[in-house]
Amino acid sequence: MTDDMARAADAQAQLHACGCSKERARKALISISRQDLREMIEDGKPIELNCHFCNTSYLFSIEELMEMQKGRQPGSGDGL
Ligand SMILES: [Zn+2]
Repeated sequence: MTDDMARAADAQAQLHACGCSKERARKALISISRQDLREMIEDGKPIELNCHFCNTSYLFSIEELMEMQKGRQPGSGDGL
C-alpha cells in the first residue's frame, strides 16, 4: 500500500463511505459489558454513539438499550 492509497482511503471515509449503520452501532453497544449497559439504562438518558470515521451519530433511547440488554444470552459473548 502506498501513501497515496492510504490518503485516498482516508478521503473516502470522510465522504461518508465507511459503511456504518445504526445496526452496526447497536452491535457495538451490545458488545460492551452488561454492567455498563445497565448503568446507561439507570442513568435514564439516551445514548449517542458517534462513528469516528464519518462522524454520523446514532441515538439509542433507553427503551432500545433495554431491548439490547434483554437480547443478550446469559453466559455467552462475555469472552471469559
Ligand atoms: Zn461511519
